Amino acid sequence: MVDHDSDLRPILGDRTTKALASAFGIRTVEGALRHYPRRYFQRGELTDFAELAEGEDVTVMAEVKRVDTKLGRPRGSKRVRLTEVLIGDATGRGTLRATFFNQPWHVEKLKVGARGLFAGRVNSFRGTLQLVHPDYELLPRALIDADSLTEFASAIIPIYPATAKMPSWRIAAALELVLAGVDDLSDPVPEAVRRDHGLVDFAAAMRGIHTPRDHAQIAAAQHRLRWEEAFVLQAELLRRRAARRAGSAVPRKPSPGGLVAELDARLPFELTAGQLAVSEEIAADMAQPHPMLRLLQGDVGSGKTVVALRAMLATVDAGAQAALLAPTEVLAAQHHATVLDILGPLALKGQIMGDARGTAVVLLTGSLGARARRQALLAAASGEAGIVIGTHALMSEAVDFADLGLVVVDEQHRFGVDQRAALQAKAAGDSQPHTLVMTATPIPRTIAMTVFGDLDVSTLRERPAHRSATVTHVVPAVARPDFLERAWQRVREEVAAGHQVYVVCPRITEDDASDRPVPPGYPPAAVVDLAEFLRAGPLAGLRIQVMHGKLPPAEKDAAMAAFALGPSAPDGVDVLVSTTVVEVGVDVPGATLMIIIDADRFGVSSLHQLRGRVGRGDAGGLCLLVTSALPGTPPAERLAAVAATDDGFALSEIDLRNRREGDVLGANQSGRANSLRLLSVLTHGDLIAEARGVAEVILATDPGLRDHPALLSALDRLATTAAGDFLEKA
Ligand code: ADP
Ligand code: MG
Repeated sequence: MVDHDSDLRPILGDRTTKALASAFGIRTVEGALRHYPRRYFQRGELTDFAELAEGEDVTVMAEVKRVDTKLGRPRGSKRVRLTEVLIGDATGRGTLRATFFNQPWHVEKLKVGARGLFAGRVNSFRGTLQLVHPDYELLPRALIDADSLTEFASAIIPIYPATAKMPSWRIAAALELVLAGVDDLSDPVPEAVRRDHGLVDFAAAMRGIHTPRDHAQIAAAQHRLRWEEAFVLQAELLRRRAARRAGSAVPRKPSPGGLVAELDARLPFELTAGQLAVSEEIAADMAQPHPMLRLLQGDVGSGKTVVALRAMLATVDAGAQAALLAPTEVLAAQHHATVLDILGPLALKGQIMGDARGTAVVLLTGSLGARARRQALLAAASGEAGIVIGTHALMSEAVDFADLGLVVVDEQHRFGVDQRAALQAKAAGDSQPHTLVMTATPIPRTIAMTVFGDLDVSTLRERPAHRSATVTHVVPAVARPDFLERAWQRVREEVAAGHQVYVVCPRITEDDASDRPVPPGYPPAAVVDLAEFLRAGPLAGLRIQVMHGKLPPAEKDAAMAAFALGPSAPDGVDVLVSTTVVEVGVDVPGATLMIIIDADRFGVSSLHQLRGRVGRGDAGGLCLLVTSALPGTPPAERLAAVAATDDGFALSEIDLRNRREGDVLGANQSGRANSLRLLSVLTHGDLIAEARGVAEVILATDPGLRDHPALLSALDRLATTAAGDFLEKA
């Protein structure tokens, strides 16, 4: 009897087992079966060589066109006997040279007209693609001649991800041996589910994918295996979700008439219906004796901060502490300033100006001086600080909380799951803090289900009503230099009207950029150089300040503070020339214009984030995307798409469609991506939702999976892979 975890050695022998392990990390029966073909050849169908790329390991079906032997002296070495075999592809036009050194016997086998599979690494020699010492397997002559016979013509050959040492047909031969025992293996998808959803069983799926008789069989196998991937992953996510919900947390029920009420009274605006609804969801979660784990997603400018602030103050009203984790020092400092500003004396408890009904709000970042850091640490540990705001410095070992009730993570896409886990671990004893993560990069529901399948999701759909949307235009500076001149003129107009302007560059200095020739008349695309250029030319007389990640923290703070003051203040700043350090969260309501240089260098979501920095006040915003790309080229088209919509949800879908699967799940999710072979979170959304529904029903009735042992062992197998490591931390 073989099992999913059985060793391959007794089935395949020593040599093949070792080869599979070293080429692909395949060690078990399960591992071998999950090595699916990359594509299939219809016998007789030849490969199109135009698809081949240098450096690739390929297996091609081809026909021998010509065979030459000669003596050569490659690169000054000894004389060798060269066998050059020209092989042709399906189109009849493409040819590839197969070269053998000192192996004249190939001439005996490779006769003109022979067809077969050739495997090797493609390289190029004097401009022609070639395979050096390819492995090959020729089709028997009888079969080629039988080309017209339907039986032969319909035979399908699987082509596996292969290496030069382990070519596709060897893998196919190994899999035929492994498949002999496939009927012994358990099926993670229960029979009733298969029946209801029209899925073939495990053994049939494996035969269908590795040794198909026809294309219908391949399709049925792929569908079933894709379904299984979604089902097993969702079952695991749901199981972990249940485990987390079984964990304990202190319910935090705020006393009425506390700081939340004070905050609401002080806000210069009414909360939107969406903000109130999400606040209610959070309050209900936090009243439970189990930890909240909620994702709040909302487009740039949708007003997430105030929702988080209400939750943090509710925690303080319940007698505990809240921590707010921001991805950059600039953003942490800004959150701190915002809270102090709104709460006034209520945020200064313990100080002369403080109100005793309030709490202390402290900032803790890596750049604090020793004394300030000691004070902040003390305030957190003693419980005196109800709210602690910081960067990743918050996660250092030295930081202790008296009673951490809530962790808020702003701009979650910037943090790894490890970091979130580290902060959660700071709650006292066995109980865990409630956690709220926020992101401005909204993701479609089915992707959220997979990436954040263990989180509850709240969404802020609309922006506060008064906010006028930011208008975006593309400035093709090379094609239309007059547009760029108009842009600089526009900067002066905004400043004259009392507003601030951002100019964003992809780099700090030009030295980092020798890769790109600058077209004549195009401005420098580096912060330092552009600031000089603007001071000396188009923006002479304006107060220009540079801002980037390499400035000392004190200078960053001073720069942001001066910029926030703006043109009306004697020591204000009119124009901030900056890198993307201003990308996330920064909120300067007086800023109305943003000019992004080399905008085509930024991703779609970055551009959307960046332009979210302007038009935050009542005056509306304008964003100009400056590019040297010519209109009609793909980079310019991408910018045009960003200019065409201000809807972050729509843009994130455009962005996702331009990315590859692994990138969608993110570097931190790569483990999870590894467990997905046939399933695409981008294209199989309906299937994922269906499988999740089924998994939910099963886990609701059989939480320990006692009646579903095959599923249980599939989940255990998942847990021992990289995907499992990832899930563990999530
Ligand atoms: P984001 O969701 O991008 O973090 P913010 O929380 O920074 O957005 O809010 C964007 C701006 O909108 C801020 O200046 C904030 O004060 C303002 N704002 C938030 N809620 C409302 C509201 N209900 N009415 C009017 N303005 C609001
Ligand atoms: Mg924000």
